[in-house]
Amino acid sequence: MRLLILFILATSATAQKISYENYKVYQVVPSNEKHVEVLKMFEDNPNIDFWTGLYRSIQPVNVMVPPKLQSKFEAILNQHKIYYKMVLENVEKMINEERQSQSEAASKASGEISFDKYYRYSEVQDYLIRLSREKPDLVKLENYGLSYENRTLTLIRVSSGGNDKKPVIFVDGGIHAREWIAPAQVLYIINQLLESSESQNMIQNIDWVIIPVLNPDGYEYTHTTDRFWRKTRSKGAVCDGVDPNRNFDYHWMGPGSSNDECSNTYAGPTPFSEPETLALSKVIKRFAHRTKMYLSFHSAAKSYLYPWGYTSELPPNADELHSLAVESERAISAVNGTRYKIGSSFNILSPASGSSRDWAYGAAAINLSYTMELPPGGENRFDLPPEEILGVVTEMFEGVKVFHEYVKEEYSKI
Ligand SMILES: [Zn+2]
Repeated sequence: MRLLILFILATSATAQKISYENYKVYQVVPSNEKHVEVLKMFEDNPNIDFWTGLYRSIQPVNVMVPPKLQSKFEAILNQHKIYYKMVLENVEKMINEERQSQSEAASKASGEISFDKYYRYSEVQDYLIRLSREKPDLVKLENYGLSYENRTLTLIRVSSGGNDKKPVIFVDGGIHAREWIAPAQVLYIINQLLESSESQNMIQNIDWVIIPVLNPDGYEYTHTTDRFWRKTRSKGAVCDGVDPNRNFDYHWMGPGSSNDECSNTYAGPTPFSEPETLALSKVIKRFAHRTKMYLSFHSAAKSYLYPWGYTSELPPNADELHSLAVESERAISAVNGTRYKIGSSFNILSPASGSSRDWAYGAAAINLSYTMELPPGGENRFDLPPEEILGVVTEMFEGVKVFHEYVKEEYSKI
C-alpha cells in the first residue's frame, strides 16, 4: 500500500503530456445560417475544439474532434448536408513534427532570440532583461504582478525620452495560451523597435508599452503538458482555467461567454477573477490617459477585429477604426498578397463578451482598440511551423508601421 502511494506521488509530480493520438481535424464549410446553428451545438461541447473560431458568417472552420466523437460528428454533418473534409488525420503527429522543428532550430545564447522557433517564458524574460541592461536609456522593464502560479508578469516600456508626455501605443499578446504566434509577433515588434536601425523613427514621437506573454502559466502549460490549452491555470471545482479574454469587466458574461467551467470560453466566477486579467486592467488604466491605440495579438482568424464583441452594434468611431484597418491591411497585402478580414468582432467572427479589447475601448476609453488575429498554420496545422514565423511577423510589422504613422500624425505634437 505504501509503495502504491509512493508510486502515485512520483508519477503525479512529473507532468504527463496530454496525447492527441488519433484526434482528427475537419475543415467544415457551412453554406447557410442553419448550418452555422448546427455547428454552434458542437461549440458548446468542451471535447470539440473550434481552432479558428466559428464565424457568424459563412466561412470554413477547422474543428478538432476526439476519436470517440468522430463518427457521431460526421453523421450529424452528413444528416444536415454540411460539407466537410478531413484535413488532419492524427493531431499527435502534427504536435510531434512541431516539437521536432522546435528542437532543430539553432539554439541561441541566453538573452538572444530569433524568429525560427517559439520560445519558452523564461527565454522571453531573458531577452527583455538583456534589452533593458543594454539599452537602459530606452527600455524599462516592469514587473506588474504575479500569475496564478506565481510567475512574474512583465511589461517593457520603450521610450526615447519626453517625460512621459508622448502618446502611447499599447501592445500585448499571448492572452490565449496556445496561440504561440502571438507572443512571437510581439517579440518581433520589440526587436524591430530596439534592434533595427530602420525602425528608429518609430520610437521618436511615440512611447510603447508592450507585454509579450499575458498568460505565462497557460503558455508554459502548452509547452509542457497540453498543446491545446487556451485558458489560465486557476483551479476549478471540476475543470481548471478561465478564458482570460472573457474575464474583463465590460459586459461580462454577455453573448459568446460560457458559465461552464469546462468550456474554452468560460468567463470565470466573477469579472477579473484571474490575477492576470486584473493586473493587465490596472496597467492599461495607468497608461490610459495617453494611450491612443491598443493592439492585442491572437491567432488564428486572420482578421483585424474592432469593437464590439458583445453586440452587433458598431462603436461611435467605427468608420475611423475600419478605414485605418483597411490602410494597415493594404500594407500587409502589398508584401506577398496575404489578405486579412476586417470588421467588428461580433459581426465578422463571433460574439465574445468581456474581452480585453472591448474593455480597453469601453472602460479605458482607448479609441483605437483592435484584436489582431494572425494566420493559422495553413489548412491543417494550428500554429505556423516555426520556419514560417518570420514571414508572418515581418508582413504584419508593415501593418503596425501604418498604425504608428497614424497615431503619430494624429496625436503627437512636437
Ligand atoms: Zn485568441
